[in-house]
Amino acid sequence: MFGLDDNNPSVPSELILGPDALEDVLFHELFHAYVRFQNVPLSLNMEIEAWVAQFRYGEAKFGRQYVDGGSFHTAMYKSRRGTRVRNIANLMNAQGGPFLSTPSYKFEDAFNEAVEEFRTRPPYSNAQRYPLNTAQRGIDNFKYIAELSTGC
Ligand SMILES: [Zn+2]
Repeated sequence: MFGLDDNNPSVPSELILGPDALEDVLFHELFHAYVRFQNVPLSLNMEIEAWVAQFRYGEAKFGRQYVDGGSFHTAMYKSRRGTRVRNIANLMNAQGGPFLSTPSYKFEDAFNEAVEEFRTRPPYSNAQRYPLNTAQRGIDNFKYIAELSTGC
């Protein structure tokens, strides 16, 4: 995400920030702050979780208001990265866990497809800056979403 966690503003980003993007992007960055505050090191896993959290927030906040146009819609509905993010989010219930009907391999597959896509372009193609924690699998990659969604 082109935002507060990006030390290098010259890194190309597919996301162009507009006025309607600010709120969900801010949520993305606050989500990072929440996770990093617990001394979790930066990883690609954490980045994908932040994108999924941002999507869930944006959908809940904007709903169909931004179905056509706007940078949230563009980032999440007009890019391959957004498609991978939505595929993960669509497997989750309101509490951030899997639907009872969702087998765990589906999370694993959706997460692995997201990893593949995120690695195709900067800044997430930088595996040194965004290492993949391969010990963390499937739904385990989204425990902070579940933590923040408790009671939702
Ligand atoms: Zn980020």
